[in-house]
Amino acid sequence: MSRSDNIRAAKQKIAENRATAIRIYERHTAEISALFPEFKRIDDQLAQTGLKIMAAALASPSDEAERNIEAVHAEYDALADRKRQILTDNGYPADYCDIKYFCPKCSDTGYVDIRICECLKKELVLASLEASGLYSLVETQSFQTFSLDYYEKDDKINMKRNAVRLWEFANNFVPGKSESFLFIGATGLGKTHLSSAVARVIIEKGAYVVYESSISMIADYEAKRFGGSSYNNEWDDNVDRYTECDLLIIDDLGCEVVNNFTLSCLYNIINSRIIMHKSTIINTNLSDKELRSRYTDRIFSRILGEFTTLHFRGHDIREQKLIKK
Ligand SMILES: [Zn+2]
Repeated sequence: MSRSDNIRAAKQKIAENRATAIRIYERHTAEISALFPEFKRIDDQLAQTGLKIMAAALASPSDEAERNIEAVHAEYDALADRKRQILTDNGYPADYCDIKYFCPKCSDTGYVDIRICECLKKELVLASLEASGLYSLVETQSFQTFSLDYYEKDDKINMKRNAVRLWEFANNFVPGKSESFLFIGATGLGKTHLSSAVARVIIEKGAYVVYESSISMIADYEAKRFGGSSYNNEWDDNVDRYTECDLLIIDDLGCEVVNNFTLSCLYNIINSRIIMHKSTIINTNLSDKELRSRYTDRIFSRILGEFTTLHFRGHDIREQKLIKK
């Protein structure tokens, strides 16, 4: 999913809301019209209001036109009142046949005048979250839910420093102008939690974030490279997002198989992002030493030279939680 796919998905959601609201309105109106012929007659009369106003406006002099228009409005109000009366007399809510938009501010169009409505902004965030690969994580793993209780002494001081640093990074994030990070530490020390927290803040600022494990990322490039006759354009979109996004989070670097193909993939992604000044966060369970022996100097020096390394230290949080239970 590219950024334009996210925008399309969000607009689609708003259009579906509008269609649903209109469908319900039409169903209710048909139901009531069938039961009460007077309601139907009034509805038909009301449908003529626009034409009547136009005709009234053509009269001259202008004060007569004004009086005519006022009369049409008064007639409209009386008819609308009568419609409501029919509904309430028969035990229906007065607004049973009104269109009830999900967002009354924009009538489910996504725009108020020419400005994007809050409801479309919200859908954009949701669509971006879903596309980022983080949908299930961000609900529970935010800066608000990050706890230092699981860290002790120096580890606690270190983690507090990491969290503050990343909070500042996320809140001051500017696409193409922010730094990159390498998170080093064993499993269960909060790397994924803080990555997800960062992603949420940045997505809410409207930036394009992609989160993927190194294994899945390499698999996407393999599908494109070795897909053979079943090759299709979707694979281009699928790998292009790794270089196009404003923030790429590569989870679990070190779990992928190392060969010439994977190494050149990794180098190309990291290198092209550095050249375009795009931010990347890499999570790994490997130590500095293991990273150095696993990856070529070309990749390793590129990462170390351009990325800020944050160490995650302590005791596995998942284990601690299990013991407490
Ligand atoms: Zn709206």
